[in-house]
Amino acid sequence: MKAAVLYGKEDLRLEERPIPQINDNEVLVKVKSAAICGTDVRMFRNGADGIDEAHPLIIGHELAGDIEKVGSNVAFYRPGMRVAIAPNMGCGICEDCIRGNSHMCREYRALGISLDGGFAEYVKIPEIAVRSGCIIPMENHVSYAEAALSEPLSCVYNGISQCRIKPGDFVLVVGAGPIGIMHCMMAKMSGAAKVIINDVSQERLDYCTSLQPYLIPVSENVEEEIKRLTNGHGADVVITACPVPSVQQAALRMAANYGRVCFFGGIPKDREEVPLNSNMIHYKQLIVTGSTRASLYQFKQALGFVSAGIIDVKKLITAEFPIDDIEKGFSCAIGAKGMKNLINF
Ligand SMILES: [Zn+2]
Ligand SMILES: [Zn+2]
Repeated sequence: MKAAVLYGKEDLRLEERPIPQINDNEVLVKVKSAAICGTDVRMFRNGADGIDEAHPLIIGHELAGDIEKVGSNVAFYRPGMRVAIAPNMGCGICEDCIRGNSHMCREYRALGISLDGGFAEYVKIPEIAVRSGCIIPMENHVSYAEAALSEPLSCVYNGISQCRIKPGDFVLVVGAGPIGIMHCMMAKMSGAAKVIINDVSQERLDYCTSLQPYLIPVSENVEEEIKRLTNGHGADVVITACPVPSVQQAALRMAANYGRVCFFGGIPKDREEVPLNSNMIHYKQLIVTGSTRASLYQFKQALGFVSAGIIDVKKLITAEFPIDDIEKGFSCAIGAKGMKNLINF
């Protein structure tokens, strides 16, 4: 089979690999769509823990496909089923896993991050993932591409769930990439009256407003603009969908009394100590939170939103490539060209 294999920093090779063998408790999935994520770009640009010349990895963690083969001990799943794959798995027995938060498990592993993933014609689903329900059958009207995009959507849903958006809230999202616009769509779904999107790129803002006409784009002087648009109150919810320390600092200033602030985007390791004005949290009674990855249940819910037509992720797909052209897909993603780049099989 063809597979895109990461060997280290800026070393992604398209290779011919044997189709994975499965044991009696595993499932083999024929990948139909896999989306390129900011995490893939970071792994490509910076390299990743545990990945080197001696330990290469097939990357890709946003994927969907058809079940090809099922181990003899596996219940329920059958060849031919169209399935979305939740890539995260835990040990299954620790406190976090028992609470349903396998994405927070100390022994957390994920397809495309620590196990061979979706930028390949076939992917093996390990026993623990099969047993815990990471293979999710999808309805016929949902495309493989939409199912693949349910993965980043589930992470956004985790973030937005921390923000307790109420009908009529004023929401600010900083960062107009695919994750930022997914936050906007979910904020709207949750009842936000106004959703402002801020980015330095006018091109990205224009694209976002063309997809979601209710959005209020702000490219400059965002702090003053928020004041103006909210009669000085500030935003009820501020979500930072970008890796910029100064944006985290500004988020506290732009939040209204009783505001909720979510640091969705992580900060690069060498800059992660960010000075924050804690009196702002104190006197405005802010809730400052963050989020990472998504639980399996959140993944199921996100797929459900897509399936029910409440969230339309189709429009976020701006380019599609065969696996042979994965390099082109990566250069689009690296250059922040368009929104989601898809690899189709
Ligand atoms: Zn991702
Ligand atoms: Zn665990």
